[in-house]
Amino acid sequence: MNNPKPKPHILFLFSDTGGGHRAAVDAIIEALRLEFGEAATTEMVDFLTNYAPPPYNQLPRFYPEMVKASELWGAGFRISDGRPQVRLMTSTFWPYVRRAARRLVKEHPADLLVSVHPLGNSFFLKALGARRPPFVTVVTDMVSTHALWFDKRADLILVPTEKARQFAIQYHMSPQKVRVVGQPISERYCVPGPGKTTLRREFGWPVDKFTVLMVGGGDGMGPLAETAHAIDESGLDLNLVIVTGRNTRLKEELQGAAWENPVFIYGFTREMPTLMRAADAIVTKAGPGTIAEALVAGLPIILYSKLPGQEDGNVDYVEERGLGVWAPEPLKVVRTLTRWVCRPPERERVAGNCLAAACPDASRRIARALGEKVGLDPAGGSPLPGGRAKKPV
Ligand code: UDP
Repeated sequence: MNNPKPKPHILFLFSDTGGGHRAAVDAIIEALRLEFGEAATTEMVDFLTNYAPPPYNQLPRFYPEMVKASELWGAGFRISDGRPQVRLMTSTFWPYVRRAARRLVKEHPADLLVSVHPLGNSFFLKALGARRPPFVTVVTDMVSTHALWFDKRADLILVPTEKARQFAIQYHMSPQKVRVVGQPISERYCVPGPGKTTLRREFGWPVDKFTVLMVGGGDGMGPLAETAHAIDESGLDLNLVIVTGRNTRLKEELQGAAWENPVFIYGFTREMPTLMRAADAIVTKAGPGTIAEALVAGLPIILYSKLPGQEDGNVDYVEERGLGVWAPEPLKVVRTLTRWVCRPPERERVAGNCLAAACPDASRRIARALGEKVGLDPAGGSPLPGGRAKKPV
């Protein structure tokens, strides 16, 4: 008897700088299973933590601290954003990272490599050489996409928005290789679930109060505490739900504080889909993952901070489409919440805009594009619940 054909193996290259890259890979792997069952095997490698030579392997650990110097971070982003700068950086760093990049691709043989991080693309393509499996880049910055994401040698570049596609072309990527697919998010945001009242009861929150969800990305970044206190002391009668992510110090600080309103504080949680569904508005850092998730949840967005550079375009995206408000001062956050609490139709109009802009099938589109590259048969896939597929913009 013939041995069964081996399953194609798909390797995802990412790193935990913020929470978004891992969340995106998780969502794509989940979508691959839903589209193709067990027809492929998958693997995730945090290439910075596990392979980069010191001190670069410490980047995920120090990333939340580094981005606190936000002006400097933004200046670094702008100065380094361009083809010539990327060519210079790649050739300068190559001697330091060459061994690690080659070791990684040797130790993790795959039929398809998927890069979900801007730092790896050029190095891994260089390490793989000419005789290599297909290489796909999934860009997870929504609009302001740094030139590091784009390498002409990639076989396919999947981007979240039309604006990001324009950047790719501006950076000399062949238009045929660049496809707009939306921002990947977990299926758990897209499946129908219990309503707000049921969920609030399950969480032990007050059922009838206007509920504000606050989050600062996977690492609890930005002036979350200051903004939370301003909301709490505003005189508004509301319920505050604060997710501090991996920022344990912030969690302890908030838990030790005195509050006027009911306040529920969570550390890193897997319950973001239900927390979003149970809330009335979100106050968040301008992270692309959180924005895309809030859109699917129909949750009006207040952006209280952003990482200069890669998140600049996200602010414009939210404001131009009427999905929420850029409110870098706590007072502006409070003013916006006051409007939404006092004038429910205004909040509902923004919630409607969010649902209209949402792209619930982005992960499925990405999964299908990856499936094509390794010849997977889409027949086994289960459809997206509610037929909510739609074209990203
Ligand atoms: N997230 C989560 N649990 C938490 C905090 C955040 O699952 O406790 C997820 C969030 O839903 C989103 C991701 O982490 O998918 C954060 O990604 P984003 O792009 O918004 O920001 P980043 O952390 O990458 O700066």
